[in-house]
Amino acid sequence: MDKLLSVVIPAFNEEAMVEKAAVTVAGVLRDAGIPYELIFVDDGSRDGTWEAVLRARESDRNVRGVSFSRNFGKDRAIFAGLSKARGACAAVMDCDLQHPPEKLPEMYALWQQGFEVVEGVKRDRGEESGFHRLCANAFYAVISRLARLDMKRASDYKLMDRKAVDALLALPEEEVFFRGLAAFVGFRRAELEFDVAERTAGESKWSFKSLARYAVSSVTAFSTAPLQLATVFGVLFALTAVLTGVLYAILGGKAGGWLVFLAVMALLAAASALLSLGVMGYYLGRIFRQSLGRPRFIISRECGD
Ligand code: UDP
Ligand code: MG
Repeated sequence: MDKLLSVVIPAFNEEAMVEKAAVTVAGVLRDAGIPYELIFVDDGSRDGTWEAVLRARESDRNVRGVSFSRNFGKDRAIFAGLSKARGACAAVMDCDLQHPPEKLPEMYALWQQGFEVVEGVKRDRGEESGFHRLCANAFYAVISRLARLDMKRASDYKLMDRKAVDALLALPEEEVFFRGLAAFVGFRRAELEFDVAERTAGESKWSFKSLARYAVSSVTAFSTAPLQLATVFGVLFALTAVLTGVLYAILGGKAGGWLVFLAVMALLAAASALLSLGVMGYYLGRIFRQSLGRPRFIISRECGD
């Protein structure tokens, strides 16, 4: 269908939200006269999320669903949903309605005007604490620089033309980072500001640890700059060594602090070498996992034709 909007909704332990999301999103789209399908991707939930998807389909035949064999993470769930989407365009939004569905008609209208990627941009980071906000800002500042993609205010709330969806699906990497890759593929873009709504049921799945892992994985997906850490450390320590040697030659053995200084430098050099090895190991791990050629996700159940 040339006007169909597919809405991809990743859901992990969202039994309390699935039906509410289905009714709300469908209501908004129906009122706006937009033909739609809702694709819920149950990301290996351990609660009744899948049953909730089945119930949502009972009351609305435009609801479809896939269920993963285990939890693969939100980004892979998004890609699974996009691979099932049949629309001329596809939107991605959270199941907890923190991405306001009322914005979908506006995004759709921008798409009809010819924009191929309509990005939801956060105006307000909702209920997040100051510390979380600080981490998020630091993370996006770093990745925007390293990956040369402006992602500071980016969110996963987007509407994309079929061309952009197909470009995303054609990317070969196993470890997908939706926000980054959606910026990477380019296309004519528009931004639409939205306020992050509060979650009304269920809870956020992100722990500090998972956010940190997410940050590292996304930076390394877009930049090889961390691999040059070893070079930077090497140059710094080489310069310090030369300087130390020169100073020692000039001052002679007068200052007793030399030994301590040298010991500290040696420890720092060893620590930097290990850190750099760790960074290399991380990239090597990525190459290794990619070389295995495992699938991004495994689907165990589907509903809706
Ligand atoms: N989600 C997912 N798999 C996961 C974690 C989260 O599909 O492993 C989904 C979740 O159900 C929700 C969206 O991703 O629809 C955003 O998750 P959450 O609300 O926990 O994140 P936050 O809003 O706190 O960033
Ligand atoms: Mg949320």
